[in-house]
Amino acid sequence: MVSCAALAQAPQPDGAGVRPGTLAAKWITGGPDCSAVPDWQVQPYNEDFYILRESGCTNYEKPFLYLIFGKDKALLEDTGAGKSDAARVVTETVAKWAAAKGRPGIPLIVAHSHSHGDHVAGDAGFRELPHVTMVPLTVDGTREFFGIAKWPESIGQIDLGERVLDVIPIPGHDTLSIALYDRQTGILLTGDSLYPGRLYVRDFPEFVRSTSRLVEFTRGKIVAHVLGTHIEESSTPYKDYPVGTKFQPEEHVLELSRGQLLELAGALAGMKDKPARMALRDFTVWPQQPRR
Ligand SMILES: [Zn+2]
Ligand SMILES: [Zn+2]
Repeated sequence: MVSCAALAQAPQPDGAGVRPGTLAAKWITGGPDCSAVPDWQVQPYNEDFYILRESGCTNYEKPFLYLIFGKDKALLEDTGAGKSDAARVVTETVAKWAAAKGRPGIPLIVAHSHSHGDHVAGDAGFRELPHVTMVPLTVDGTREFFGIAKWPESIGQIDLGERVLDVIPIPGHDTLSIALYDRQTGILLTGDSLYPGRLYVRDFPEFVRSTSRLVEFTRGKIVAHVLGTHIEESSTPYKDYPVGTKFQPEEHVLELSRGQLLELAGALAGMKDKPARMALRDFTVWPQQPRR
């Protein structure tokens, strides 16, 4: 039993004690006819966990946003790209949730997977709203908000009310990158650091260390899905859509698993100190010049 847990396995194939949910069979991308594509797709994973996908007709990055409800607070990860009106669609989704629960509303925390423009573009819309707390877009502000003792080695937490999220600093793609682990569903949110697409690595040594800390963090934990913030890969192994593609009729599924996290760690270890572009089945490691 203990040894099973150490390998992130459950003793029986019975759902592993985490709350289940449903991913979309198909996500909107950006076309072929933009007049027929809604600005957002709002997918309830379950009644307390929502996945929002921004349309590629609004911005080719078409990022995913995550909205998680606890008993006392809700947390939104990211606010979209380009002309994102995330505040509108999130406000509607929160209102529907509250109505279904017979509550007047719920305070909202707006956090970010990292600080890049395609994940913070809708921030302004939230600053004007009541009952919203923005997590500062700085390392110190993020560290303090989530109670991370030492950045990036320590793990922080936020309790949304009978729902704890672990906050794992994973700099490398961006200095401010974090992963969120939802203990209730076993979902690990990895932002732009691991998703089916091009994993741009700005700071290679930092990215290697962050990936191995994420492997260590998940050891012994149930990981139902690894969910990132874009899809750039096609459903054909080793094949991506070019940068800037809006319409992706044959895109890869959103969800990855801890297996792909281990595969990423293995690929990075194989490079030793020589970062190189490497296409794997479901994603590509894409080192870039550090922006310092
Ligand atoms: Zn990014
Ligand atoms: Zn991004």
